[in-house]
Amino acid sequence: MAELEGLEFGKSDFVLLDEVTMEQFMENLKLRFDKGRIYTYIGEVVVSVNPYRQMDIYGKETIEAYRGRELYENPPHLFAVSDAAYKAMKRRAKDTCIVISGESGAGKTEASKYIMQYIAAITNPSQRAEVESVKNVLLKSNCVLEAFGNAKTNRNDNSSRFGKYMDINFNFNGDPTGGHINNYLLEKVRGGGTGNRTHRNKDIMSPSLHLLFSQLLRGGSDEMLKSFNIQNDPAAYVYTKEGAAIAVSASTSNNDRSSHKAVMNALEVIGFSKEEINSIYQILASILHLGNVQFESDGESVQIRGLDAVNLISDLTGTDKEIVSKSLLYRTVATGGGEVIEKGHTEHEACFGRDAFAKALYERLFGWIVGRINAVIEVKDYNPVLHGKNTVIGVLDIYGFEIFDNNSFEQFCINYCNEKLQQLFIELILQQEQAEYQREGITWQHINYFNNQIIVDLVEQSHKGIISILDEACLTVGKVTDTVCLDSMDTKLAQHPHYTSRKLSPSDKSMEFKKHFRIRHYAGDVTYSVEGFLDKNKDPLFQDFKRLMYNSANPVLKEMWPDGQLSITEVTKRPLTAATLFKNSIVALVDKLACKEPYYVRCIKPNEVKSPVLFDEARCRHQVAYLGLLENVMVRRAGFAYRQHYTRFLQRYKMTCEYTWPNHLMESDKEAVEIIITQHGFQDDVAYGQTKLFVRTPRTLFTLEQERTALI
Ligand code: ADP
Ligand code: MG
Repeated sequence: MAELEGLEFGKSDFVLLDEVTMEQFMENLKLRFDKGRIYTYIGEVVVSVNPYRQMDIYGKETIEAYRGRELYENPPHLFAVSDAAYKAMKRRAKDTCIVISGESGAGKTEASKYIMQYIAAITNPSQRAEVESVKNVLLKSNCVLEAFGNAKTNRNDNSSRFGKYMDINFNFNGDPTGGHINNYLLEKVRGGGTGNRTHRNKDIMSPSLHLLFSQLLRGGSDEMLKSFNIQNDPAAYVYTKEGAAIAVSASTSNNDRSSHKAVMNALEVIGFSKEEINSIYQILASILHLGNVQFESDGESVQIRGLDAVNLISDLTGTDKEIVSKSLLYRTVATGGGEVIEKGHTEHEACFGRDAFAKALYERLFGWIVGRINAVIEVKDYNPVLHGKNTVIGVLDIYGFEIFDNNSFEQFCINYCNEKLQQLFIELILQQEQAEYQREGITWQHINYFNNQIIVDLVEQSHKGIISILDEACLTVGKVTDTVCLDSMDTKLAQHPHYTSRKLSPSDKSMEFKKHFRIRHYAGDVTYSVEGFLDKNKDPLFQDFKRLMYNSANPVLKEMWPDGQLSITEVTKRPLTAATLFKNSIVALVDKLACKEPYYVRCIKPNEVKSPVLFDEARCRHQVAYLGLLENVMVRRAGFAYRQHYTRFLQRYKMTCEYTWPNHLMESDKEAVEIIITQHGFQDDVAYGQTKLFVRTPRTLFTLEQERTALI
């Protein structure tokens, strides 16, 4: 409980609600938001509401106030949780992690930056140069990742289109020595549900690229643009024509120019060489030119219309002009008999191939940049004997549950990821509770909660799960459509209590079309449209492009395409599908988190219009439900809602009892607390641990709190 706040700011911990109902939860959340209190606890979990305005709560003084303190000594804040994670890491040599979730625009990335800033501020008091340089690189890496992975969307001006997990390593002094970044599912095309799908071009490239391009086009030096043969005009490029309007309306050229400078500077500080930086921008320029490649067909064969763009691409990527053209027009295929032949594209296939190539260039570039940053921040020469245990704080900034009007493959992946995280959350929180009860010598209370393993299995189980069924459909030779795949899901999953489809329950009006299926997620029902699932799950890139890039004279580019060295007969084994790759990365992530002591930040977006004063009740209620916050409060209260060290409890409530005020004569603080509790008649509502008092219901605490307030 935060002691510095009065009751007029509502309850600083949802555990203290009179009753755990949605109404009370929302009332408290709104009251606090209206009063400018954006953080509230559920035990040790921080619930954060995006204020959409600069708050004066992140400065030096605030940092000092939270430094080294306990959670309940100050009003709820990200810093308190950061400090708790840091203390656990430093004092108890525990690896910890901070999991930040919430929907797009809820404030996750900002929170992760404040957490990093806090950690940077409280470490390395002696200002050792090598530690400062590590901190600097860690902070700068954010700037680069944002530049290459973020987008201006209508839901968030600076929306991360990727999930990010960052480990920060610490030495025995508690100073940062390095780190590691993992990124998850970078969005290549505009996600389902929100984009305007009438314009084809808009759909092709990620909004991230629009932002990057507009920075490049308007921020890049004339010399740079000239060497890439790029015109300073977004309208000149197919991939930027549409997006230019979005990017321009949301930013100014000044902004673009300074962002471009900041990114260049960050790249240099991190240690990217001049050649590498040049290669990065060469690749971006190639993507722009690639979008301008046009095809024409005379009904028989397909040609490239004008070779300007092809020539530029070949120059920028250090590849052979002829082979660039050929890769755009043909694909090499192995026949059943092991023969290798070249097959001409139709015009449609050629366009599809070109766009897939552009997306893949961008995706590989991003992956390579992350890899390069990791190589720089990786802890080197660490000797555990000399340096003591190397401990870690992980910070996970990842999209929460997504439910749109139209939910597609992307939402399916994201929601699966959230099922996994929820599973971990339940396990870890319950484990933590159990561990505390054991430590304190209190009988373990069984907590009844919904175990979502069944939904996790529905998605990921081998052979029977949705991902397996999808993969099987993708591997089947011949024409398997999305609907055929849905039929197969219907057959295999008809009995599953968390799965249904239009065909299985025809009377269900929430699924309008035959192409819909529905998963009963832990957070609620989501209806997905299977349309496009198969295409998005397949690796759409023809091997010819991979080989083209692998054979580039530019070593940076070559490094990004190691799979280009495979011959066509070797690749017929089929690469892993998008869903399987994603699943593998999430399983690895959960393994990483599972061995750490977790801290949670749950972010809520108060409205859709970025207003600092509007609390959109319906939207918030929706998020509270999908984040499972009520359940969280219940789990927390199922055992003991509140716990406090005897000494601190005594300090706060000793005035409510004549035997303890102003001082007690007992042997220990524990006995003095027993006297207070017994005198109030609360003995049935508490348990006495070794060092802490455990209180079952919040009402007990309120009564004490009221008495205390009346006396002071
Ligand atoms: P997410 O990562 O969840 O999509 P962001 O962290 O990018 O969301 O936040 C979206 C925007 O909301 C930010 O660009 C910023 O303008 C505003 N915002 C978020 N958190 C805060 C905060 N703590 N203080 C002030 N503004 C914030
Ligand atoms: Mg973000």
